[in-house]
Amino acid sequence: MADFQKFFTCSCGKVHNALLDDYIVGKGAIREIASLMARYGATKPYLIADRNTYQAAGKQVCKVLDAHNIPYSLYVFSQETIHPNEEAVGSAAMHYDVSCDMVIGIGSGVINDIGKLISKLTKTPYIIVATAPSMDGYASATSSMDVDGLKTSVPSRCANVIVGDLDVLRQAPVQMLVSGLGDMLAKYVSICEWRIAHLITGEYYCPTVAEYIRKALKKCVDHAEGLLNREEEAVRAVFEGLIIGGVAMNYAGLSRPASGVEHYFSHVWDMRALEFGMPASTHGIQCALGTLYALRIYEQVKKYTPDVALAEQKVSAFDHPSYNQFLKDFLGRSAESMLALEEKEGKYDPVKHHSRIAYIAEHWQELVQIMEQELPAAAELERLLKAIGAPCSVEEIGLSADILRLTFEATKDIRDKYVLSRLCWDLGILEDIQI
Ligand SMILES: [Zn+2]
Ligand SMILES: [Zn+2]
Repeated sequence: MADFQKFFTCSCGKVHNALLDDYIVGKGAIREIASLMARYGATKPYLIADRNTYQAAGKQVCKVLDAHNIPYSLYVFSQETIHPNEEAVGSAAMHYDVSCDMVIGIGSGVINDIGKLISKLTKTPYIIVATAPSMDGYASATSSMDVDGLKTSVPSRCANVIVGDLDVLRQAPVQMLVSGLGDMLAKYVSICEWRIAHLITGEYYCPTVAEYIRKALKKCVDHAEGLLNREEEAVRAVFEGLIIGGVAMNYAGLSRPASGVEHYFSHVWDMRALEFGMPASTHGIQCALGTLYALRIYEQVKKYTPDVALAEQKVSAFDHPSYNQFLKDFLGRSAESMLALEEKEGKYDPVKHHSRIAYIAEHWQELVQIMEQELPAAAELERLLKAIGAPCSVEEIGLSADILRLTFEATKDIRDKYVLSRLCWDLGILEDIQI
């Protein structure tokens, strides 16, 4: 039974709406493909897979379709590694057979991002047969793509149905299982920051959606140590948690429930990998590391007492033009959109800072209480990451301590969202933080 409602009226005043129609998780779930197609009146699907995902699940999908005498068209990417760019989308589009009336993606991150775009372009319903519980994009309506060589979140569409066959998911490479858990652990920080931002900037917040995420996260953490043994409940918890992460973003109409500063660490590293060929790891591993560093920083911030005069002194000494130059040097072409965002937003405007810091100082106890309620101890998270064999330092993914510090500074410019690094800047303590 899928653990979500398509629509509901919430006490926050919104009618929450999930873009996803349904998901099924269980052993042998792939056998449901024919009946799922029937739900959408589809008669001939276009299957997209890569060589690995075809072996992992594609063959079985074809077998089920053959057994039901359902015709299909199949495209298997020939490359070992597919980059989510124009070439990959172009190849998948060029092999599209116009007699098809549904797209079925077979894979995880990249295949799903491409499948969502092909489904949008062809205006046909979309099913994703997941091969790994590795990231939370299954239920999202955007595709993370490299457009003109830049990491871009492209509006695409959400899957109608997500199929998670536990026989397949349990066989996913360990790094993908760990990645999926890493993307879930990020939710400690995202919920905390959602509440903090709600207080400081007055942005929308829904306690029901936040609680929905907390429950899913708890399940993942309770089962975490079974993940390396590929225990069914551990794999299910992560897979469902990741879907719930996507549904929660649909409900809220923003990314707040599932992503905060820890995701921005990951975005920065992805941008630098694409622009300068720097090392990068998977999305979930990077988010897990971002979460660990964020927790350590929150522990320092919690002990601090705001000093409004000092914060204002720091802000008046802030050299905006040289900071902009740093962003360009550090992030390359991706910095352009961030500078444009700042032009619109004006977060570095001393007048806006003045009202934020006054509020922060006045409500400091409340803010610290949120951090205490939402965040586990950094040492506890580190123990968990070690137990599942995840990296616990940037050095383990090929980055240096200097890059880490600069990454944290740049996280405040990635999107127009109030996150930990902005709080540190507002407090005037950004450069004193030990990372
Ligand atoms: Zn609500
Ligand atoms: Zn994520």
